[in-house]
Amino acid sequence: MSVSRELLQRLADGRFHSGQALAAALGCSRSAVWKRLQALQQGTGLAVEAVSGRGYRLSRPLELLQREAILAALPPQAPACTLHLHETVDSTNRLAREALEQGADIPAAWLAEYQQAGRGRRGRQWHSPYGRNIALSLAWRFDLPLQRLPGLSIAAGVALAECLESLGLRGHGLKWPNDLYWQGAKLGGLLIEIVGESDGPVGAVIGVGLNLDLGTELPEWIDQPVTDLHRAGLEVGRNRLAGRLLGALLEACRLFEAQGLPAFMARWRRYDLCAGREVQVLTAGERIRGRVLGIGDSGGLRLLTEAGERLFHGGEVSLRLEGGA
Ligand code: ATP
Repeated sequence: MSVSRELLQRLADGRFHSGQALAAALGCSRSAVWKRLQALQQGTGLAVEAVSGRGYRLSRPLELLQREAILAALPPQAPACTLHLHETVDSTNRLAREALEQGADIPAAWLAEYQQAGRGRRGRQWHSPYGRNIALSLAWRFDLPLQRLPGLSIAAGVALAECLESLGLRGHGLKWPNDLYWQGAKLGGLLIEIVGESDGPVGAVIGVGLNLDLGTELPEWIDQPVTDLHRAGLEVGRNRLAGRLLGALLEACRLFEAQGLPAFMARWRRYDLCAGREVQVLTAGERIRGRVLGIGDSGGLRLLTEAGERLFHGGEVSLRLEGGA
């Protein structure tokens, strides 16, 4: 049985609901409520407490995605965008990529309560508990040559960092090319995918995974310090955050298309966690040490190594900062 959205909406407030009240509201028997509760727990991983005499409740309240609330949080000047909300998907980036490939109306954005196969770079897994974080993918078609697109991850990172600052977050920074950190722990990341031909127009998917509330149980396979906005002291509603973030990304795409990377260079430096730091760049079979000089005109990483300056592009390398992010 699939997850009952109606049941979830009733339980989202985190309060107790009696089996009888749920049955009446859902128009089914109490045993059908019980079955739906089982399906809900299995389908979402959410824990439902059952207390005799009081009923059922979620261990913590949940803010489910809501179209009107997201649209209301979009800045009025943001470019128009089609919004797709999903319950469970394998990956919002996949939906956005397919829409681009099929020539769908763009810009469009996809948000999901839960991603079964959320991904980081190079196929790495991205963890996100049901209904608590942001999984957002925006598809945009750029009238730009393909070789200009690598800088998009810089523009999107700036949009993400500035958006969070405008909501009240402090102390966050960006690790080139696509990670967001707060006090040494990973708070979110971007996954940019390009769809298109070299003679344009070029489609791009900007995927954002942002931790709002990771809860207390983290999977063992996460091999680095992680955090979420609640732990970082930012109390913001999930829909408001989604709307503001989407608005910021839409603005960034518009500006990137009109002015390219130069419009984001100085803004990137405000959040750059790498500039001036000793780092190791891990690339196919090689580990290169050096000091980061900043980013180049195309958004690549400028590294001062023993052998002189080298330039690296995001797709091909991982960066490790000496002493952590
Ligand atoms: P790179 O420097 O190459 O980007 P990375 O390890 O940060 O390396 P990503 O592809 O950016 O890799 O992200 C995937 C990694 O992020 C996972 O291997 C895991 O360690 C970590 N991770 C997974 N889910 C989350 C999450 N919700 N929040 C923070 N970190 C996560």
